[in-house]
Amino acid sequence: MNEIHGWAARGAKQRLEPFTYDAGPLGPEEVEIAVEHCGLCHSDLSILNNDWGLSRYPVILGHEAVGKVVAAGDDVKGLQMGQRVGVGWNFDSCMHCHECMTGNHNLCPEVAATIVGHHGGFADRLRAHWAWTIPLPDALDISSAGPLLCGGITVFSPLLTYGVRPTDRVGIVGIGGLGHLALKFARAWGCEVTAFTSNTSKIDELRRLGAHRIVSSRNSVEILSAANSLDFLFITVNTPLDWSALLKTLKPNGRMHVVGAVLEPMPISAFDLIMQQKSVSGSPTGGPAAISAMLDFAARHNVAPQVEHFHLSKVNDAIEHLAAGRVRYRIVLDIA
Ligand code: NAP
Ligand code: ZN
Repeated sequence: MNEIHGWAARGAKQRLEPFTYDAGPLGPEEVEIAVEHCGLCHSDLSILNNDWGLSRYPVILGHEAVGKVVAAGDDVKGLQMGQRVGVGWNFDSCMHCHECMTGNHNLCPEVAATIVGHHGGFADRLRAHWAWTIPLPDALDISSAGPLLCGGITVFSPLLTYGVRPTDRVGIVGIGGLGHLALKFARAWGCEVTAFTSNTSKIDELRRLGAHRIVSSRNSVEILSAANSLDFLFITVNTPLDWSALLKTLKPNGRMHVVGAVLEPMPISAFDLIMQQKSVSGSPTGGPAAISAMLDFAARHNVAPQVEHFHLSKVNDAIEHLAAGRVRYRIVLDIA
């Protein structure tokens, strides 16, 4: 028996309860991590509630885990026992398809999610393929680094993919876990940053986080006051908004990039794209090389998640706090 102890949901929308599973023998390419801290992402809530129809129960949630390597299979490369590492949304991929071989493991057709058919980081230990187990730079504060592993890479990767430049003007819609990291990364990247929020009580703090300009995300007239001003617009919310008005905030050749899991189809008029050559795109987290580059950049530029701590035993309170929209700006569960 190789028992791992965590907190699991036994069905959709159930409270998490203490749960033990037998992880079996460690695979040759697997790493086992003693989890110290794990972020709570909105995707954990969506898997808990089966919003996307792909949840499997029982499930230990948690996919922003940081901790120390405590066991490694015979074929594990590049990691040392005791080394500080992180695991994000994905824990494995095929390692031989075109996407994996070109460093885009997150686009592998077989990429595996840490909390779908696999147990995540709200536990004393977590297993992952060595390539998806990312060493953490020493300079990062371990107690707040977890959210970089999913939230951080999800908003950092598009800066690389789409060649966002320091001279660009970037907008971010929704300043929660992902949004506040997008704000900090875009600011550190050198960009002018506009924060679109639905919550006026965040305004002062958003300025302190680095926003140059703050605009309502729900008032179409206010959104249009920012017309023709942005090169790149992140959407981190998961609710329908005035997409036509938001597209109008883009300059010619601008891009609206969706990372929030908006379930409803997004009505977009072809003419809103055609006339000024605009694009709409989306992306899933990032691959191991991009995660490493992001962690390095975060350490160098002091991009640290702003977090609220809960002990793992209070995970249900933490989930309630997130569902109520009260988090500033990411919860981290303390485990060890
Ligand atoms: P979060 O911390 O809950 O933040 C979401 C933010 O959206 C809120 O803070 C709020 O910001 C805004 N919002 C919420 N309800 C709204 C409404 N009715 N109208 C307007 N704005 C609203 O969530 P998160 O962890 O950042 O995740 C955001 C989304 O990204 C989720 O759907 C998650 O599943 C998804 N996600 C995607 C990826 C990917 O790979 N693409 C990775 C991770 C997460 P304001 O208060 O500023 O308005
Ligand atoms: Zn996530």
